[in-house]
Amino acid sequence: MTKDEARKQVCDAGMKLLNEGLVARTWGNVSVRIDDRLCAITPSGKAYEEMTPEDIVIMNYLTGEHEGDVKPSSEKGVHAGLYKTRKDINAIIHTHQVNASTIAAAHRVMPAVLDDMAQLIGPDVRIAKYALPSTGKLVRETLKAMKGRNACILANHGAVCAAPTMDDCFAVAQVLEKSCKVFIEAEFLGGAKELSKFDAVLMRQFYLRKYAKRK
Ligand code: 13P
Ligand code: ZN
Repeated sequence: MTKDEARKQVCDAGMKLLNEGLVARTWGNVSVRIDDRLCAITPSGKAYEEMTPEDIVIMNYLTGEHEGDVKPSSEKGVHAGLYKTRKDINAIIHTHQVNASTIAAAHRVMPAVLDDMAQLIGPDVRIAKYALPSTGKLVRETLKAMKGRNACILANHGAVCAAPTMDDCFAVAQVLEKSCKVFIEAEFLGGAKELSKFDAVLMRQFYLRKYAKRK
């Protein structure tokens, strides 16, 4: 992928997230891996509707250095940490999406309550312990909570979603939001019934080995 293709992909993803109501104003951030040292990441504090591909920052995720004068997202450490430690991840979306934020406020680990959640995200969604935004502690807690998963909830903050492609990452954010909503509502209907760990792992394997290859 060229730098320009990456800039456009990140910018388009931001608009799509805004239109889906998964981000609002300047909160959240998006990035895509370009190669074994560079990624393209949203700028810090800029509204999605005003963002153009030229605003997207090219950053070296190994050193933290970036091209140009525009400041990269303040959560660049979380994005860099995931690219450095997870070879399977090429796109990352951080949101303050509403239903995931309810789970973030309650600190509830969300079990796999739906098949699509188990397929795209994993057997549960962990809570990364609270840490102030853009700190090293937030990076460490996020990496821990993401282990073997494609999403986690940041306590009292929001969500982090990741996937091999931007399209898949968007799907992770959508399925996460739906799962959180369903989980919360099922709790009011007498309690959510989770998939067994065995079935959840089976669904994830089915997705990786078969379903994802049908595209
Ligand atoms: P940035 O605008 O710096 O990406 O920060 C938004 C955010 O969600 C911080 O957690
Ligand atoms: Zn945030």
